[in-house]
Amino acid sequence: MVKENLAFCFEKIRISAVKAVYSLHDVTLIAVTKGVGIDFIETAIDNGVSHIGENKIQEALLKFEIINAYARQKGAHLDWHMVGHLQTNKTRDAVRMFDLIQSVDSLRLAQEIDCQAFKLGKIQNVLLEIKTSEEATKYGFLPSQVESVLPSLAALKNLRIQGLMTIAPAVIAPETARPYFSKLRQLQDKINQSSIFDFPLSVLSMGMTDDFETAISEGATMVRLGRAIFGERQS
Ligand SMILES: *Cc1c(COP(=O)(O)O)cnc(C)c1O
Repeated sequence: MVKENLAFCFEKIRISAVKAVYSLHDVTLIAVTKGVGIDFIETAIDNGVSHIGENKIQEALLKFEIINAYARQKGAHLDWHMVGHLQTNKTRDAVRMFDLIQSVDSLRLAQEIDCQAFKLGKIQNVLLEIKTSEEATKYGFLPSQVESVLPSLAALKNLRIQGLMTIAPAVIAPETARPYFSKLRQLQDKINQSSIFDFPLSVLSMGMTDDFETAISEGATMVRLGRAIFGERQS
């Protein structure tokens, strides 16, 4: 089932990207594996997944070595993405495991990641999580607030801020998520027009199972899919 689902997702992503006005680029599929067993994840790797997303450090710790060993044995390389809220006391493990921490939602967390990255001799790639809808998501910078913290974020030398991430509110029709995605893209444009960062923010991580095609049409460069690949979660 995972195999067929994945083929379907890759094809939908490809078609959406071809049609999109804002995305003349590749769209990366992040397979979100929270609550998903090792064997399903391995099947996903066998069928073209090279980006794994987890939302809890504890769960990621249980899978990280096993899944990486499997990938190595298959000659595959995996990128790990942290997509859930990160507590500051878990940043050390996060920096150790994740290639991209997508859920940087406060200056304090960014500073803590910077500090741990320095200690581990790593430049940590991150995205800033933006609360594009005030009701639905608990965490993230408000679009109106983020610009005032950008200079402080830009000063953190062990972070590389690659772009922005958002979670749209759960919606009935995918089309109703469009304003949130478009808001994220506009914020990216605005930040890139300022010269706060040395290089443009290029990543827009937006779109999940119910709305990824809409997100791609609004310029997503990463979509984060769980149920579309692995089916409904138990919890
Ligand atoms: C669970 C999760 C996803 C995937 O959600 P689906 O609706 O199953 O595709 C994407 N992003 C984040 C941050 C998540 O926690």
